[in-house]
Amino acid sequence: MTNKKRIIAVIAGLILLAVMVWLALGSHGQKHGKDTSSSQSQTKAATTNLPKGVKSTDWDLVLINKQHPENQEINFTQAKVGDKVVNQKIQQSVIDFMAGAKAAGYDTTLVSGYRSIEYQKEVFANVLANNEKNGESEEKALAETKKVVQTPGSSEHQTGLAIDLAGNDALAKYPGLTGEMDQFTSQRWLIDHAPDYGFILRYPKDEASIKETGIDYESWHFRYVGVTNAKYMTKHHLTLEVYLKALKAREAS
Ligand SMILES: [Zn+2]
Repeated sequence: MTNKKRIIAVIAGLILLAVMVWLALGSHGQKHGKDTSSSQSQTKAATTNLPKGVKSTDWDLVLINKQHPENQEINFTQAKVGDKVVNQKIQQSVIDFMAGAKAAGYDTTLVSGYRSIEYQKEVFANVLANNEKNGESEEKALAETKKVVQTPGSSEHQTGLAIDLAGNDALAKYPGLTGEMDQFTSQRWLIDHAPDYGFILRYPKDEASIKETGIDYESWHFRYVGVTNAKYMTKHHLTLEVYLKALKAREAS
């Protein structure tokens, strides 16, 4: 009897020990996952649970950047918002976005909409000529110009789907458009509410995004991608580059 009791006690003890070890490992594993790989795993989840019915070839997801230039003028129906031109498909969204800001107490200025490649060439040539006039070597003048002006063919403005939109007070302080405009609540309102109108802040501030887009933080440049995409991308911190890559992976599988 005593031997049996001892055996039972030992078995019970072992089971208790096993449960404690299992619990300890379990909670440790969870903690570890949350602490170190949460952003990575979130990105992975975000790129595998993409919105249904969205395709990488949709008109509102066209990608133009330095790696994907488009050297032919893009044909689309143009429409005006104030004195600026945008793709007619997004005209109402731009109007609504600005009206939303106004209703929240912020007057805004549409600084830029569609820019043709031809116009971009002019801007580029002017800035380059000015840099050369200032006595810079040809090589340095070109490098300086590329820092501030997008090479013709690689500006998103040629799609008619990108806008530079600024709170009037932010623009008054930073007429040359700089990231610091986000010190103003007007600009922050635009950044926070852009997805409600189908826009994303196209060039975010964090290092990972800058690496993905190849463009420094622009607190004023918004890109139309449609409400579903904009909300999803913003919620999961996905740049257009990463979002498109994920959509293409889904289409290939
Ligand atoms: Zn812009």
